[in-house]
Amino acid sequence: MSDARTIVVAGAGIGGLTASLALAAKGFRVIILEKAERLAEAGAGLQISPNASRVLVDLGLAGRLAPRAIAPDAVTVMSARTGRPLVRLPLGAEAATRAGAPYWVLHRADLQAALHAQAEAHPAIELRLGCVVEDYASHVHGISVGHRRHGERGDTQALALIGADGIWSAVRGQLFPSSGPHFSGLIAWRGTIEAPALPSGEPLRGVQLWMGPRAHLVAYPISGGRLVNLVAIVPDDWQREGWSAPGEPREMQSRFAAAGWAPAARLLIEAVEIWKRWALFAMPDGGAWTTGATALLGDAAHGMLPFAAQGAAMAIEDAAVLAQCLGDSHGAGTTGDALSVPASLRRYAEARRARVARVQRLARQNGQIYHLAGPMALARDLAMQALGGERLLARQAWIYDWRL
Ligand SMILES: Cc1cc2nc3c(=O)[nH]c(=O)nc-3n(C[C@H](O)[C@H](O)[C@H](O)COP(=O)(O)OP(=O)(O)OC[C@H]3O[C@@H](n4cnc5c(N)ncnc54)[C@H](O)[C@@H]3O)c2cc1C
Repeated sequence: MSDARTIVVAGAGIGGLTASLALAAKGFRVIILEKAERLAEAGAGLQISPNASRVLVDLGLAGRLAPRAIAPDAVTVMSARTGRPLVRLPLGAEAATRAGAPYWVLHRADLQAALHAQAEAHPAIELRLGCVVEDYASHVHGISVGHRRHGERGDTQALALIGADGIWSAVRGQLFPSSGPHFSGLIAWRGTIEAPALPSGEPLRGVQLWMGPRAHLVAYPISGGRLVNLVAIVPDDWQREGWSAPGEPREMQSRFAAAGWAPAARLLIEAVEIWKRWALFAMPDGGAWTTGATALLGDAAHGMLPFAAQGAAMAIEDAAVLAQCLGDSHGAGTTGDALSVPASLRRYAEARRARVARVQRLARQNGQIYHLAGPMALARDLAMQALGGERLLARQAWIYDWRL
């Protein structure tokens, strides 16, 4: 296949790998350039809602994911004050049938490994590890992508470059040098608990969201139920790139020893032996995503706060829409030339912008609601109970019912 059907994807995260599979399915040759030497275990749990699982199923990943993904029975909102459930949003088989796709919780590494294996098995996809994308130059036939591997500089010619290189995107740095992520003032502490070591002594079958004063906790099973993923979100001014900085367990324990956190929540915190910290940065809403034959995707375009559990899901949706827009004009059996690539990429960005901005806003609002304290928190709890789980779930329908 010639360069005329080659797309370079920078980054083999969830967005880059999904985009590569979706583009290959449209008849493109894809070269993925990933700076990591190997796709190691980074991050922890992910909730993958039906809007995104539908895309993964359509790409043929159900078989690879089924042994590792868990379909939680519900999202249970817990009161940090009383330690009791406030409201239960039913997921389970009925919700999956209604949505036409499962709601999954799984380890990010398991999703990445499944995508990686599927990409490796595809003859049109080439993954180059240890290859850092440095810059690019546009020309009439497309784009020349400059990269470095083990100190050696190389160039790869392609029809288009997709920057799926995460929130600290090098591609965005060249494309839109003045736009970048802002620190939110919040830190995610992430850890796992061996399922048998859960303080309740009972297996966790769903997602628990604990709302407390100025902080919240999320817990759910991952790795086929062997582990429980725990994320604690707290205010802080520590800010560093990356998602692997170690955290001191005693610091977490003392933060949650404060009044307002019931013993059941504190026991969860105490059950984690190894914590990793992740400073939460977010891109401003609605920035530009594309110029010429280069476009951004996933966190590179719209890294968001994780409080709608939709960052990876939006990257997965982006991938499907991008492949459709490029495939319509340049895929197998079409006659599009390099000159029309920018128009296809603009169509992609236009198709995505409003929806993604709405999700970014929701994520911010959720964070504020989860962290209310005092009388405002009581009012929130009463309002949630009055609405009930079914109606709270129905309010997410605009996210979960999305289809290509
Ligand atoms: C606490 C927390 C909980 C979350 N929970 C959820 C959830 O439940 N559901 C959900 O949908 N989302 C969730 N998210 C968000 C989700 O993790 C991200 O949105 C998603 O992983 C972004 O994927 P990506 O492929 O765009 O970027 P990344 O996963 O960051 O991948 C980028 C890749 O590009 C590579 N790279 C970087 N620079 C270069 C370069 N110059 N050259 C080559 N390669 C490069 C990196 O090594 C990496 O492999 C959560 C986030 C956090 C912080």
